[in-house]
Amino acid sequence: MRKNIIKISVFAGLITFGACNSAKNSNSENVIISENIINTTLPDIAISEASVKEKLEFLASDDLRGRQTGTEGINKAAGYIEAFFKKNNIKPYYETYRDSFEVSDRTGFNVIGFMEGNDPELKKEFIILGAHYDHIGIEKAVDNDSIANGANDNAAGTVAVMELAEQFAKLKANKRSILFILFSAEEMGLQGAKHISKRLKSEDLDLYAMVNFEMIGVPMQGKDHLAYLTGYENSNLAEKFNEYSEAEILGFLPQAKEYNLFKRSDNYSFYQEFKVPAQTISTFDFTNYEYYHHVSDEAEKMDIAHMADLIEKVIPGLLKMTNTSEKEIKLN
Ligand SMILES: [Zn+2]
Repeated sequence: MRKNIIKISVFAGLITFGACNSAKNSNSENVIISENIINTTLPDIAISEASVKEKLEFLASDDLRGRQTGTEGINKAAGYIEAFFKKNNIKPYYETYRDSFEVSDRTGFNVIGFMEGNDPELKKEFIILGAHYDHIGIEKAVDNDSIANGANDNAAGTVAVMELAEQFAKLKANKRSILFILFSAEEMGLQGAKHISKRLKSEDLDLYAMVNFEMIGVPMQGKDHLAYLTGYENSNLAEKFNEYSEAEILGFLPQAKEYNLFKRSDNYSFYQEFKVPAQTISTFDFTNYEYYHHVSDEAEKMDIAHMADLIEKVIPGLLKMTNTSEKEIKLN
């Protein structure tokens, strides 16, 4: 499962029509030869730029008002993700897709989808793929725009998890079980992830690893890897992931260590609760995007081709993580 795009050529064959014509030109015979070669990109293993764009534009639209926890805007985002899970046969892990919690004066909810593993033993072990879908809402206006749309932070990561859920549901090839979690209240101090990591720990979830997606909307320049992994030296995740992928997908970013990004996103709560590899994949490198927490963090500034490419290229590594007989990824 290395290549994600498979082209099939279907030779539809020769279709020959011998036409009997009217009396007028009965001495002629029309022969039409039709040769159809259909090139099909299998929809179940390629990430379409159009579908990435559509999701991103919805999640980062002004209509969602910056997806602040506890608002109607984020409620719409949650409804959109739930409908997508349902349509793609991703089941709720709990009674509904929503895992609710109280934060300050409001109610937040994480959205959780579940894809059970297909191996009777390995399915008891879980991998969590996550991203926060909340953002900061309304900010001080710049050029009459006061909506912080949060396209890169983190509609982009949310789209990645949705696309991955769709692909895993189609592949039906994961031996371990997968939870797809979209976190709320990240922007209020990683509250959604704190809540659900404690809840899952109290339920004795056998967590193998957690992989989080943050700010993957703009590519890094001049790197020999596609994305970086926070907490790079905390585990062998990047090393094993690249080995599984047979490609340099994940690397080290010095600034990620300098600013301790490992502790600054939703992966951290899972590390704290479970003491297993729990890290974030990102392509925000502090030089490639100037609209962090800015009202101009808009969908049109995202590089859709880069996003689709990255999402597609992490699939083989993630799939392999769900399928190795032993838990090969470990904390250092
Ligand atoms: Zn973020």
